[in-house]
Amino acid sequence: MHHHILILGGGAAGRWLGEALVNKRPDLLNKIAYIEKDNQKVNDRTWCFWEKENNLGGYTTRNWMHNRHNDKRYSLYPYTYQMIRSSDFYEKTLNKHTIIHEEVLHCEQRGDVVYVQTNKSTYTADYVMTSVPVEPIKLSSTFCQSFYGLYLEFAEPLFDEQEIRMMDFSIPQQSYTQFVYVLPLSKTQALVEVTRFADAPISEQEAMALRDQYLQGIHYTILDKESGSIPMTPDLDAKRKHHHRDLRVIPIGTVGGATKPSTGYTFLRAKAHAENIAYALVNGKAIPTTYRNWRFRFYDRLLLDILKRFPVSGKDIFSRLFERVPHALVLKFLDEQTNFLEEWRIFKVLPKSIFLKAALRDLL
Ligand SMILES: Cc1cc2nc3c(=O)[nH]c(=O)nc-3n(C[C@H](O)[C@H](O)[C@H](O)COP(=O)(O)OP(=O)(O)OC[C@H]3O[C@@H](n4cnc5c(N)ncnc54)[C@H](O)[C@@H]3O)c2cc1C
Repeated sequence: MHHHILILGGGAAGRWLGEALVNKRPDLLNKIAYIEKDNQKVNDRTWCFWEKENNLGGYTTRNWMHNRHNDKRYSLYPYTYQMIRSSDFYEKTLNKHTIIHEEVLHCEQRGDVVYVQTNKSTYTADYVMTSVPVEPIKLSSTFCQSFYGLYLEFAEPLFDEQEIRMMDFSIPQQSYTQFVYVLPLSKTQALVEVTRFADAPISEQEAMALRDQYLQGIHYTILDKESGSIPMTPDLDAKRKHHHRDLRVIPIGTVGGATKPSTGYTFLRAKAHAENIAYALVNGKAIPTTYRNWRFRFYDRLLLDILKRFPVSGKDIFSRLFERVPHALVLKFLDEQTNFLEEWRIFKVLPKSIFLKAALRDLL
């Protein structure tokens, strides 16, 4: 069967793309189909991000205005930190689209047509947008951000509902960069996530031991869990701004380079990329990649190099940032929206020699 556009993978990026295309051209609804291997998408992750406006109000489960670092509360204004439970997002998207529940095995462009082989059939399309790796991706390192999160109910009201803890480094570092992330859902409920940056994912046992230490003496019951691992690598960075005009297989989402290497944040970046692709397709323009400004690619490489070589320095670097720089500026920097002067304000507080050495290593 032939489709104008086949979207491989009905996860975050695929869904943003389908929404963006149909928003721009409602008639595309009948010309797009998804191939997604899971019959039923369950609540498999929580997406967090920050925005100045609450543009995703239809999906967001919670939002917060402050971050607590050590014992101090910092405003995130003009941003709010937001959270979407994937089950909510899955429920509200793709309700009208055609979804083929099969597993993609192979995908190949021949001339202007793309052939997609699944475990049951072969499909053709003018364009394939894929968040499924259709050819083996070789990463130069296994460095990743891995986490185990638990939704917990506490016996006592412990939380301020307006305030998160983005990076609480009060757990032992054990030769890694590791921290706890706390997102309160009410005064007595929170998502508590143990996160580690390292070459190999943290094991469940290690994460649970750290969580027990963090919550020592506090009574709680476990409501739900989530865990995962996100690659932290510049290898997926796009090398050019637009895809070649003849290319019909377009990578999106994590495989398309939408994940910021130094943080793992992907969700809104995949959305922005989806909107740019939709605009280009509808207007007959060259399809954009997730290409990023060279400065931010450089900064990410430096931080990753330092985190890999000197993992225990992560605590010092992030603590300096959160203690000495307005948190809204940190978020703007992580969004790659800062100018050079604002970046200088950030670099001033960081340990200089370690960054200079990393810069030299990168340039040589
Ligand atoms: C647990 C977890 C929490 C995260 N939290 C955040 C966060 O807070 N903020 C943030 O910005 N990012 C977060 N991320 C990173 C990123 O946003 C997510 O991984 C995001 O889902 C990536 O979108 P994607 O579309 O590229 O991949 P996915 O959402 O994983 O979608 C890929 C889809 O392809 C399907 N698929 C895979 N193989 C095949 C196949 N062979 N055939 C057919 N279908 C297939 C899968 O079932 C899936 O539905 C998180 C990641 C994880 C794993």
